[in-house]
Amino acid sequence: MGTPRTYLPVLQATPVATLDGAIDGPPPTSLVDNFARRIRYLRISVTDRCNYRCSYCAPDDIAGDLAFAGRAEILSFEEIERLATVFARLGVRKLRLTGGEPTVRKGLVDLVGRLVRVPGIEQVVMTTNGHLLADLAGPLKAAGLAGVNISLDTLDPARFTTLTGGGDLVRVQAGLRAAVAAGLRVKTNAVALRGVNEAELLALCEYAWAHGAEPRFIEHMPMSGGMIYERAAELSSAAIRTALAEALGALVPVAGDRDAGPARTWMLAADPTRRVGVISAMTDHFCGDCNRLRLTAAGDLHACLGHDDALSLRDALRRGDSDERISHAIAAVVVGKREGHEFLAAAPGKHMISIGG
Ligand code: SAM
Repeated sequence: MGTPRTYLPVLQATPVATLDGAIDGPPPTSLVDNFARRIRYLRISVTDRCNYRCSYCAPDDIAGDLAFAGRAEILSFEEIERLATVFARLGVRKLRLTGGEPTVRKGLVDLVGRLVRVPGIEQVVMTTNGHLLADLAGPLKAAGLAGVNISLDTLDPARFTTLTGGGDLVRVQAGLRAAVAAGLRVKTNAVALRGVNEAELLALCEYAWAHGAEPRFIEHMPMSGGMIYERAAELSSAAIRTALAEALGALVPVAGDRDAGPARTWMLAADPTRRVGVISAMTDHFCGDCNRLRLTAAGDLHACLGHDDALSLRDALRRGDSDERISHAIAAVVVGKREGHEFLAAAPGKHMISIGG
């Protein structure tokens, strides 16, 4: 690995830092961290607010802890667009809009239209709970959105409402159908929870396939200081694959799936058009291939989901920093990117609802 490059002091696991002081050298032109990982993908949370309260994402106990950012605290569309332009110059090619719930941010369609026009950006996609998607899918597609990942943990209406803190399965299903009909690429995301949706793995796959979507399962990650996470209740990606293979026959890995993101994609040996993604964040993590950064709605840039380190790009923007200086700030965050998460040693204090998954 050699000696770590020291662009600027490596960020510590501290509250949001600011980048003060002089910066030497030409602005960076690419983002490569100390572990030779090249950053190509930025997740942008466009709001920390959500119309659902999924138990694993915003556990009840953090309700009082969730200080939603005021309007003036979150990045404006102009600020997001400017940052996207800076990131694109640094080699970022893919943007994923997330939240909170991205569809509750007013003007989302306009934002997508702005982002798809940023030179260098090749793909803008979104992760959503689907509740408002029935009306938005067509306009989002027309604005240039390429695809949506829709959270769908269960097909049981009562369980869905409980798990999501009041969500409406019928609306989400309508949103999914509208997204497929609009021509968006659609994947479903289910957080795999032992004893909750464990018996629905096959049904969730069959449902997604029947509706023109690709199902995915995500291992439960211990965010919010590990709240509601139970190691003993882990439903591993290996267990998921075994259960699916027992029902459907052998699963074969899909080689070189560029669009898979963190998911490893498998296909049925008997029918290669039927694919399923599994995100083994806990049992077989993929940190070595991580090409992502995360920007919160309030403009904090996080290099790793599993650590709390962050740097405020909003402060940089609002104190009038140049694009070059902001590029240096981003490069500093990348240099500070940890080798991997340490979820089982220490769960991050940040909440998934705030960072956006
Ligand atoms: N509101 C949108 C949604 O429901 O998809 C976007 C934000 S949500 C934080 C993004 C993704 O994070 C969802 O697919 C959700 O299932 C996943 N997620 C939330 N908490 C999680 C956890 N503790 N472990 C694993 N995945 C989680």
